[in-house]
Amino acid sequence: MCLFCKIVNKEIPANIEKESEDFLAFHDINPKAPVHLLVIPKQHFDSFNDVPPEVMAAMTTFIQELVDHVDIKASGYRLISNIGENGGQEVKHLHWHVLGGTKLRFGHFTDADPKDFL
Ligand code: 5GP
Ligand code: ZN
Repeated sequence: MCLFCKIVNKEIPANIEKESEDFLAFHDINPKAPVHLLVIPKQHFDSFNDVPPEVMAAMTTFIQELVDHVDIKASGYRLISNIGENGGQEVKHLHWHVLGGTKLRFGHFTDADPKDFL
């Protein structure tokens, strides 16, 4: 069973911010912003590549309610889902990072020299 499935099953503790029948939002253990939540479907999908669109549709509502609940809806935030090897995905259970609570810099998206792409 994957790490996030263990969090769903409450086998591993997490600081849970919001829970519904189908989704869970909890605080990232290594926050990169004042607000750094992870949102997952309780059902296991390896990544965004595998998620049915109807699950994403329901997850959209869950995330919209979550950002309202943690009071970052108006100030703004960033959603990121890392996918696969080049995306830098470490946990192979679909998750959205919700980052906010400060003005976010536009990050570091490659370790390569951008000139290599020219
Ligand atoms: P990824 O790199 O796969 O997009 O992101 C995985 C995220 O999960 C990382 O930001 C990491 O800090 C977080 N993480 C890894 N293990 C745990 C854990 O046991 N608990 C929580 N709450 N977050 C975790
Ligand atoms: Zn899983």
